[in-house]
Amino acid sequence: MTDNYNDDYREVIPEEEKTETTLNEKKDNEKNSENTQVADTAGENSAEKKTEDKKDSGEYEDVCFICRRPESKAGRMFKLPNHICICDDCMHKTMETVSQFDYQGMLNNPGDLNQFGGQNGFPNISFVNLADLQGDGGIPNKQKLKKKKKAEGPKPVFNIKDIPAPHKIKASLDEYVVGQEKAKKVISVAVYNHYKRVATDTMDAIEIEKSNILMIGPTGSGKTYLVKTLAKLLDVPLAIADATSLTEAGYIGDDIESVVSKLLAAAGNDVEKAEKGIIFIDEIDKIAKKKNTNSRDVSGESVQQGMLKLLEGAEVEVPVGANSKNAMVPLATVNTRNILFICGGAFPDLDEIIKERLTKTASIGFNSELKDKYDKDTDILSKVTVEDIRKFGMIPEFIGRLPIICTLQGLSKEMLVKILKEPKNAILKQYQKLLELDEVKLEFTDDALDAIAEKAIKRDTGARALRSIIEDFMLDIMYEIPKDDNIGRVTITREYIEGTGGPIIDIRSNEILEPVENLKQIPVEEK
Ligand code: ADP
Repeated sequence: MTDNYNDDYREVIPEEEKTETTLNEKKDNEKNSENTQVADTAGENSAEKKTEDKKDSGEYEDVCFICRRPESKAGRMFKLPNHICICDDCMHKTMETVSQFDYQGMLNNPGDLNQFGGQNGFPNISFVNLADLQGDGGIPNKQKLKKKKKAEGPKPVFNIKDIPAPHKIKASLDEYVVGQEKAKKVISVAVYNHYKRVATDTMDAIEIEKSNILMIGPTGSGKTYLVKTLAKLLDVPLAIADATSLTEAGYIGDDIESVVSKLLAAAGNDVEKAEKGIIFIDEIDKIAKKKNTNSRDVSGESVQQGMLKLLEGAEVEVPVGANSKNAMVPLATVNTRNILFICGGAFPDLDEIIKERLTKTASIGFNSELKDKYDKDTDILSKVTVEDIRKFGMIPEFIGRLPIICTLQGLSKEMLVKILKEPKNAILKQYQKLLELDEVKLEFTDDALDAIAEKAIKRDTGARALRSIIEDFMLDIMYEIPKDDNIGRVTITREYIEGTGGPIIDIRSNEILEPVENLKQIPVEEK
């Protein structure tokens, strides 16, 4: 085997060198002789040491069949039959070359010139193409895949093509939304008319105008919730946008048209579906004209101007599956003529404008008495007029395109208690269901519900406060109850809500414990 070695490696292997050289001697040689052929790297020195060791044990080194490097240089060897060894590097190179070989060309076009200038394929040998045997369906690319059945979602309560009478829409809203009777009535009629107009489609001499809605009501009074419930009942796509993030096109912020692309996304990029959807723009009062500004009002009046054509009905090009237009995103044209726009806002201080107008129009003389009367009126917002909204800072063209104005009341204590327990998915029902899974009954005394509502009113964020208050005290209950399997019922009391006592715990055997004892079981945190 030594005869086959390359000249380069002869110095490592020959017998005479192997016998005479030790590592130390080699180092001396390096120092003394300029013509030494011994490699001077530490690796090679150690390689030579190995060689010696092998020699000592009477063995030869394996050499790569392809590159001729010995095992000490090339590393691990693959041993093939007939005493052929191939080093790691050569093995990899071979595998790579094999994987890049153009078998298809070789099989498909025998006779054609291949990349090496020779003929493709093997002469007189034809390969069997498996695809021919199996017909069209044989090739994996053409394999027929079973189409997945579309997941069936919850069935809509109403069909917009056959829209039910307004009182039926309102009755369904009643199941979810507490109070706000006027708003629910106005919206039911507006939606009924809107979708009737959409269904008729053909417009003759009398064109029914769009019934876009402006919703005014304090925060947490259910504006968003009402719209969400409506969209769910009608099974139409809904996009909720925040007017505060909108700016005039070209400025930092979302373009006004981005609300339409959100709707398109909500409709699963189905343009036809999106064109019958609902767009809810929240915080609309934040785009009121800014008072006393000299600079360009890019997020206020300009946004109102920009929204005019959307509200009325226009063809807009919106990016599909993205928020901004750029060269890489396909565009879809959406007509907003049949999209129902609902704008909502809290309009703070609008009540002052209304009061001022009302007192002004009343006869002079007993003004002070009237002012008192309006101050106490909790439903003052319902007396709003277009003039008041204009005074607030909305431009007349904008208000003109929202012909239906509905107001929502601030929530009273009674309404908050109802919200806690009455709607289909009321918060209390949700917790009761959670504990039911542990086979524990959860109950609230009427007094406890009052206490929760009173706390919520203090926070002044409407029904939004309810959940955070309940989460607060339910945390301890949810933590402690699963510890004891004997607990069968928990009754929340006003004292527990106010942090002065504990809940009443009933053991499964229906033996009622004294509330004082319960104090020890469930720690009451200072709230
Ligand atoms: P906003 O008026 O600020 O848009 P939301 O509609 O977001 O307030 O209300 C917040 C939450 O309060 C809703 O998710 C809903 O659970 C509850 N809520 C508010 N008002 C009502 C109501 N009238 N009936 C039932 N739940 C309500």
